[in-house]
Amino acid sequence: MTHPTTTAVRTAQYQDLSDAHGEPIAMTSAYVFRSAAEAAARFSGEKPGNVYSRFTNPTVQAFEQRLAALEGADEAVAFASGMAAIAAVAHAWLASGTNVVCARDLFGTTTHALRHYFGRFGVGVRAVPLTDLGAWDAAMDADTRLVFIETPSHPLQQVGDIQRLAQLAHARGALLVVDNTLLTPLGQRPLSVGADLVLHSAGKLIDGQGRCLAGVVAGRSELMAELRRVVRCLGASLSPMNAWLLLKGLETLGLRLAAAQSSALALAHWLRGRPGVGAVHCVGFADHPQHALIQRQQRGMGAVLSFEVGDTREQAWAFIDALSLVSIATHIGDTRSMVTHPATTTHGRLSAQERQAMGINEALVRLSVGLEDLDDLRDDLACALQRSQRPLPQRTRAVAADAP
Ligand SMILES: *Cc1c(COP(=O)(O)O)cnc(C)c1O
Repeated sequence: MTHPTTTAVRTAQYQDLSDAHGEPIAMTSAYVFRSAAEAAARFSGEKPGNVYSRFTNPTVQAFEQRLAALEGADEAVAFASGMAAIAAVAHAWLASGTNVVCARDLFGTTTHALRHYFGRFGVGVRAVPLTDLGAWDAAMDADTRLVFIETPSHPLQQVGDIQRLAQLAHARGALLVVDNTLLTPLGQRPLSVGADLVLHSAGKLIDGQGRCLAGVVAGRSELMAELRRVVRCLGASLSPMNAWLLLKGLETLGLRLAAAQSSALALAHWLRGRPGVGAVHCVGFADHPQHALIQRQQRGMGAVLSFEVGDTREQAWAFIDALSLVSIATHIGDTRSMVTHPATTTHGRLSAQERQAMGINEALVRLSVGLEDLDDLRDDLACALQRSQRPLPQRTRAVAADAP
């Protein structure tokens, strides 16, 4: 007779939900083998199949396959976060004595990670203005392994020419990596114009509901095999629960992106020329200096834009604090609209000179547009602009006047 302790452990084990319409969430760390010989064969890769969820997991694989299909890639490898994906790419292809050439206005933490953590091991990191092809060409040499861009860039909404940069990188034997977080595969397919790797911070628009962190890289099979070895060994694997959230997120991405994008463009046009608003940066403007390239390379504009409020930090902060519907959060691509002050948050780790070289001034505000009604968003911005332009409150001015 089996003992209750054994029953508690062994009875009614989880089986595949064979007829389930939704994907089962395979919350398992390990997989069972039918024999020691099968374990050995699967471990060595001689026989296909799961071994351990640090390497592969069925729910994670479903997400990887769906994302690869959307990007037109052979395969994809998922990670616990966007930064984990970026670190894995760096681990796979950079070594002491090699260098990475990256866009100057890359996501702040990407630049910091490359310089601080990979720089320590003798990797050279060279930063180049995204739109200056001559500077890219001059910065690459025979030791360049990776060329890294984000297009469109944020917060400043500049665009890199993927096709031309791929040609320059390939002439040196380097791989072109494109961070496609802002547009998703529905807005741009970098692999189709020559990029080697496309990556996403998948907790942004792909999840789209602010529920999880995730990252993913897609590309050719032989490159994905390298990354699979990195995740297998270094372990920043995506959880099956989060993979399931991303699968559900992908199912509504088209509708969400279309709605957020259309509101973002309407708000950008409305902000332009409004009293108290300085430059408005938006790839959706027909007079964007790179309009022809934008038309050729991408569909739509994503849901992020940036603009200057007044010309000081105080004015930008007063505007941010006066918003009531829009949340203050350093995130993008949620159903909820969010605002942030790049100079003191996302780009706060850079020196004032670096920020100035990038064009990020103290008046700049970044807005990620969500799915609230457009009229309500416009009203919130209008109200906050008006309130941020009132003279300073009496008390503050009296203190200033009394000062010796
Ligand atoms: C957020 C973000 C990242 C980093 O991703 P995490 O998931 O936050 O680690 C990388 N690139 C871009 C463009 C991002 O917006």
